[in-house]
Amino acid sequence: MLRRVLDRLWDLQGLTCREATRLAANAMDRPLTFRERVKLSMHGLLCSYCRNYVRQLRFLRKWVRRMSPPDVTSPGEELPSASVSRIKKRLESESSRIE
Ligand SMILES: [Zn+2]
Repeated sequence: MLRRVLDRLWDLQGLTCREATRLAANAMDRPLTFRERVKLSMHGLLCSYCRNYVRQLRFLRKWVRRMSPPDVTSPGEELPSASVSRIKKRLESESSRIE
């Protein structure tokens, strides 16, 4: 009896643990659609394993962000002008030595 009720609930929220964890991982890269968010939170209400998984995923993401250095130059970003002139000077002195 209980088993049937649980199965029924599972059908209603229509998300397996595998799908739920995949959605949770996707949520780290892109915003979920309304439908996906509802499905995921419905699943989270019923499934403590996935709730824990999502909590750990969020913790890991925060931790990785905190660990990565804040001053990494991303592609397309310009170097500070002091660095540019230092590199230029160095290149000029290197090339004058070769000639
Ligand atoms: Zn689950």
